[in-house]
Amino acid sequence: MAQSFRSQRVLTPEGIRPATVVVEGERIAAVLDWSDVAPDAALNDYGDLVLMPGLVDTHVHINEPGRTGWEGFWTATQAAASGGVTTLVDMPLNCIPETTDVAALEVKRTAAQGKAWVDWAAWGGVVRGNADSLPGLVDAGVPGFKCFMIHSGIDGFAWVDEKDLRLALENLRGTGLPLLVHAEVARPIEAATRTLNESGADWRTYKNYLASRPDEAEVGAIELLICLAEEFGAHIHIVHLATARALPALVEARKRGLAVTVETCAHYLCFTSEEIPDGATEYKCAPPIRNAENRERLLQALESGDIDMITTDHSPCPPAMKCRDEGRFDKAWGGIASLGLALPAVWRVMHSRGVKLESMARWMASAPARLAGFEGRKGALVAGADADIVVFDDAAEWTIGKDDLRFRHKLSPYLGLNARGRVRETWLRGELVYSAGTFFGSPRGKEQVRA
Ligand SMILES: [Zn+2]
Repeated sequence: MAQSFRSQRVLTPEGIRPATVVVEGERIAAVLDWSDVAPDAALNDYGDLVLMPGLVDTHVHINEPGRTGWEGFWTATQAAASGGVTTLVDMPLNCIPETTDVAALEVKRTAAQGKAWVDWAAWGGVVRGNADSLPGLVDAGVPGFKCFMIHSGIDGFAWVDEKDLRLALENLRGTGLPLLVHAEVARPIEAATRTLNESGADWRTYKNYLASRPDEAEVGAIELLICLAEEFGAHIHIVHLATARALPALVEARKRGLAVTVETCAHYLCFTSEEIPDGATEYKCAPPIRNAENRERLLQALESGDIDMITTDHSPCPPAMKCRDEGRFDKAWGGIASLGLALPAVWRVMHSRGVKLESMARWMASAPARLAGFEGRKGALVAGADADIVVFDDAAEWTIGKDDLRFRHKLSPYLGLNARGRVRETWLRGELVYSAGTFFGSPRGKEQVRA
């Protein structure tokens, strides 16, 4: 039977308006005027709560198979559903085996079976020495690839230098798939760390951790990537941009028509280095959270369209690895747990700046859907797309508590943060998955492959 989802405020690509979303099976059949309710369709009337497209988070570390003690499909996808994320794309590292060939991808597919509460996809990995495996991963339907220009923290996921990058881009030529890059080069970081160690720096101090990962590391990596994007005609995507100092080069490259896209992460928009207490290793990530002035420039770049999207880079680990007792930033695992919290955390910031919810949907749904090649299927309430619908109370004010963290380990800098807007319901392909703190049905998330 068809269903109708009706509200005075439906977030469509043309803006928020009164509308009725007609769903047949798993797909949106039509987006009609508010009063156009089909008589034979079950009616869900949400008054003036916002109906928005399910969010797409293209930067998530699920860690399964292999490090399920860190996270896993079940907990990660429940966290996603609770925060309105109906599609996530998993990174190729942290899992064992790392997703650097088709055999490893198949192991991940098997591991995900019966555990995914939302739809998911897997980025393939580019590491030193796996160029021959890339065509197979392309054929297997990965939406793109991810690599590191610096040690990734995972020994089994080797970083790449310029020579490796060239080889990978040669292999990906003609596929149209994006290469996602962790854009930091090692040299400035090694130099800064050496200086800090020689001066006997206190690694409990956030200021010292920040100094150990200078802006230059990001800027240098991004300058090289822009050159390679031009030379190979490649689509290069900069993950987790943290420094605003790289923006002029990125803006100029995009102006020249290069296919360089950029994401920043929720934590760079919600926190500043000045506020991070010493020893608070739950804030450690790389590149690091920088100062308030830098944050302001990232926010402005989103608003001007110079940054395309917002992801979480949800990257948790067992609490012991965060070394919270010792509080040493040099020893703690780098990665922030945040899946499912980005919409209300970032919306509070953006609402206070007068930003419209339509922009949030662009940054967190349609733009990431396009990056993964899922445009038309995911990230927008349009006829023909999957019926992934979020019911969002955009005016709710609340504080993020432990029960709101649905991922495996309840250690996160978002704990205690004031948020705005609350996900009331999440629908995946026409079926209710989450409502008011409870999950419904069974895990029916499907892997999304590139068409
Ligand atoms: Zn990451």
